Amino acid sequence: MVMQMERIKKLIIEKIQKSNLDIKVVIKEDVISSTNQLLLESTANYEPLDKTIYISMKKIKEMLSTIEDNEKVAYIDCLIAHELGHASDVEVERSWNEFKKTKETWRNLVYYIVLKRTSYDNTITNEIYDAEVLKQLYGVYVTMKTINLELESRAGELGRNFSDHPTMYEKFNENNRLTYLRIYKVFEEILNII
Ligand SMILES: [Zn+2]
Repeated sequence: MVMQMERIKKLIIEKIQKSNLDIKVVIKEDVISSTNQLLLESTANYEPLDKTIYISMKKIKEMLSTIEDNEKVAYIDCLIAHELGHASDVEVERSWNEFKKTKETWRNLVYYIVLKRTSYDNTITNEIYDAEVLKQLYGVYVTMKTINLELESRAGELGRNFSDHPTMYEKFNENNRLTYLRIYKVFEEILNII
């Protein structure tokens, strides 16, 4: 059974309205490009700046195709409950800004190292300085991972208040955590080869 898109959208909107949180929802047919935070395309994302939950129908369709028919409604419930967890987190804006700043620093340092190594003046590379930058990069990685996992863990806990499917909700959060850990493994690999 393929769930009708209109039914899915209705479920999402009703769930968010029922929360009584002062937030908006934007349902996109394709990916959530502007709010995509790491390496994966997000299925749903809470953006504290405009207090909006962004949803990608493309990703929801992909996810639902991997889920048993009798669990599809519960999956959507868990997904939104988790985002409501982010939205009801009083620390979310501060953590999110900190995370974005750290991610930007990570990116700049990686660019710096890669560009420096491939530039014409490669011959004058100062190895001591390079080691300093790498040390800095490792620190940034640890900070970024810590902020991100704390954000996710708080959302997981707070989202329980909105979840109608407690058992599946715990599984959902565990999978979410594992996905982030896999992403950070890739970051670690980058650190190892750089
Ligand atoms: Zn989350």
